[in-house]
Amino acid sequence: MSDLVSTALVTGGSRGLGKSIALALARAGFQVYLTYASKAADAEAVVAEIQAAGGQAKAFPLNVGNAEDVAGFFQAEIKDKVLLGALVNNAGITKDGLILRMKDEDWDAVLGVNLRGPFICLREAAKIMTRQRQGSIVNIASISGQMGVPGQANYSSSKAGLIGLTKAAAKELAARNVTVNAVAPGFIVSDMTDALDDKTRDQYLSQIPLKRFGAAEDVAKAVIFLVSENATYITGQVLAVNGGLYC
Ligand code: NAP
Repeated sequence: MSDLVSTALVTGGSRGLGKSIALALARAGFQVYLTYASKAADAEAVVAEIQAAGGQAKAFPLNVGNAEDVAGFFQAEIKDKVLLGALVNNAGITKDGLILRMKDEDWDAVLGVNLRGPFICLREAAKIMTRQRQGSIVNIASISGQMGVPGQANYSSSKAGLIGLTKAAAKELAARNVTVNAVAPGFIVSDMTDALDDKTRDQYLSQIPLKRFGAAEDVAKAVIFLVSENATYITGQVLAVNGGLYC
């Protein structure tokens, strides 16, 4: 399989940060497999953009929190079919609310997509990458998991957990030449930040040393570095892309 183009799998690659990451991976020479939850048209538009630029891409509907679906996907589309060079666990959701009012289902939903999902995908990718004796896994965490954000107990916990998963997996998989790192974005212009109210937005902006929100491309560049030949001796790390907001 070594003569195959290396494939990068990006969960939640249909829009937001995942879209920028998918486009950047394609520019870097990967065949890109991107997954989405429900917005097929967005995902197909990303595929079309990559193909129009001369790259290779395919889109797949996949709920990352469903272990059976994820295992079936890896069996049908990845195992013995492609050289899996990179997995980017990007799919994520928020269901914000203060702890005293947070519903169990909002806790479970966020932990299910943001922590269980990456674990399930990482487990499947690890089966393949350890056999290949190569591969890079990048988990998209968040500043929320590093500093804790009020109103985001579920989200902060999921992202802090993802950092723990990153470090444990890095140690388990290192002997097979598989690296596992996290990228922790701060406030990045996206659908998720557009949902912030003006007061919260201005409050955060005033605290960011670089005095601007990040761009999705800033996050994509960090991911590209971590899956590149420049980062083969880096594993178990959290690369913060946050304009200096938390360091
Ligand atoms: P977004 O624009 O809301 O996009 C989320 C993506 O995840 C979409 O492709 C969506 O698919 C997919 N998705 C949602 N639930 C899924 C599920 N159960 N299974 C599979 N895919 C699912 O998100 P974003 O703002 O770009 O954030 C991307 C990642 O960066 C997340 O992990 C987020 O926590 C993290 N992050 C974002 C920011 C920020 O400022 N935006 C900051 C720090 C960290 P559909 O299009 O089909 O719905």
